[in-house]
Order: sequence, then C-alpha cells, then structure tokens
Amino acid sequence: MHCPFCGDNDTRVTDSRLVADGDQVRRRRQCARCHERFTTYETAELVMPRVVKSDDSRASFDEHKLRAGMLRALEKRPVSAEAIEAAVERIRQTLRARGDREINARDIGELVMQALNTLDQVAYIRFASVYRKFQDLNEFRAEIDRLSQTTDPDTTQTTPDEGR
Ligand SMILES: [Zn+2]
Repeated sequence: MHCPFCGDNDTRVTDSRLVADGDQVRRRRQCARCHERFTTYETAELVMPRVVKSDDSRASFDEHKLRAGMLRALEKRPVSAEAIEAAVERIRQTLRARGDREINARDIGELVMQALNTLDQVAYIRFASVYRKFQDLNEFRAEIDRLSQTTDPDTTQTTPDEGR
C-alpha cells in the first residue's frame, strides 16, 4: 500500500483490529519514509463482477439468465431444484472469490459446464452442444469420448435428496 502523503510503498501496519461486528478490519499504518500515520479499512467486496461479452460490450451479472440457461439444459432431467440452487450459489461464490471487477462471459460458460458436468451428463451435453457450437458430429463425438474417459464411476456424484 502506497503512503498517501509521500507515495512511498514501504508502509507498515502498526495496529489491526476487527470493527463493524467483524465485517471490517481497521488497520493503522505508518510510512517508513515520512513517518505519517494513516488508517485503512478492509471489507470483503461482495459486488459481482461485470460480464464482458464476446463483442466486448459489458453487462451486469445476471443470475436469472444464468439459472434459466441451466434449467433449460436440465429440463426433464432427474435433478432436484435444491441441487440446482446449490450449483448456482457455488458459481456465484466462485465469481466473487476471484475478486475481479470484470469477467469474460466465456469463463462463466465454462463454470456452468463444470457444474452441469457434475449434476447431469445429459444436461451437460445439451448445454455444451449449444455453447460450444459443435461444428459437426465428429466434434460432438470427441466431446462424448472425452467425457466417458474422465468420468470415473466411483466418483459419480449423486444429488443430496436422492434417497428420499
Ligand atoms: Zn510517506
């Protein structure tokens, strides 16, 4: 952190404590060069990153659109609403945890594909075939082959409420 007084980058934390019921960290810092003291507050940034589309335009992250895309792929598949919500929440957390202000729509698509891959293979193929715009049957077949190689039957995930 640069000193706001002289711009030097050698500042030291002299005190650090939790404030605002633990949602913030207040730090006292001192510049090693000009010895000025200043305070910083650190909070988690819970703002979703902006989405950068393939034509370079920007849009707000749209959770409804994300969910709608997944639901379309999962139509008539044996996956519970709960498992879908959990997957949506995991994607949101992943995006937030990256801490980037912007994210490529392509990266979100990859996260959706990963999520669908663990939820339901048919939904995954449905989504991937639209998303990746398979050019021909061979490309599609290659993806199916890749899938069957990476799917280990011992680690196949089940939805939480499968045993009712
Ligand atoms: Zn300074």
